[in-house]
Amino acid sequence: MGNSRALVLFSGGQDSTTALAWALDRFDAVETVGFDYGQRHRIEMECRETIRAKLPGLSSRYAERLGPDHVVDLKALGAISETALTRETEIAFAETGLPTTFVPGRNLIFLTFAAALAYRRDLKHIVLGVCETDYSGYPDCRDDTIKAMQVALGLGLDRRLVLHAPLMWRDKAQTFALARAIGGKPLLDLVIEDSHSCYLGDRTTRHGWGYGCGHCPACDLRSKGFAAYLAAPDDSGLIP
Ligand code: ZN
Repeated sequence: MGNSRALVLFSGGQDSTTALAWALDRFDAVETVGFDYGQRHRIEMECRETIRAKLPGLSSRYAERLGPDHVVDLKALGAISETALTRETEIAFAETGLPTTFVPGRNLIFLTFAAALAYRRDLKHIVLGVCETDYSGYPDCRDDTIKAMQVALGLGLDRRLVLHAPLMWRDKAQTFALARAIGGKPLLDLVIEDSHSCYLGDRTTRHGWGYGCGHCPACDLRSKGFAAYLAAPDDSGLIP
């Protein structure tokens, strides 16, 4: 049935953890890639190791399919966000609710590195947890961007690559529901306990929806999404 090998862009957050489970559910072999671009993401990097270590315990299929992890050093990306943004721009970002370390076009860079890695590892499918529904402020998360990148990368590498964004049209509540639909309560519990979203890196305060400061835009989205999921848990997995 052709190449059923996938690379998942895995940050250790709720979305990429769910995307990883989605990939493990449908591809024969799944590898992960993470991007290390500065201290703020140290906690996410630790969470991704914990999640990768626990996933094989949830299902023998996960254990068989989960392959190597790759960490790419992208410190230059962190340097851009620290030094190249003007102070005025940082304030403008803060007012829009985006983190001040937001790097324009970040996913374009991630996808290009992921495609190079996928080429080397003979992985035809690239899976990422981007979402247009919750992050409309991030143009590099939009459906059109991802589709255009599939075309550009396929042409530039002269190889067929298929980009999958299973969360593209799901809101946070539906993403919780998808985790539940794919892996039942054990997977949902893993997402809540071990995935990390908080922009401030807070893992000292445990809420019903997981760890976080409870106030930053990421915590706000996650807590509201979890409340909406509890109010109407649709775990049919058939959400368009
Ligand atoms: Zn937070």
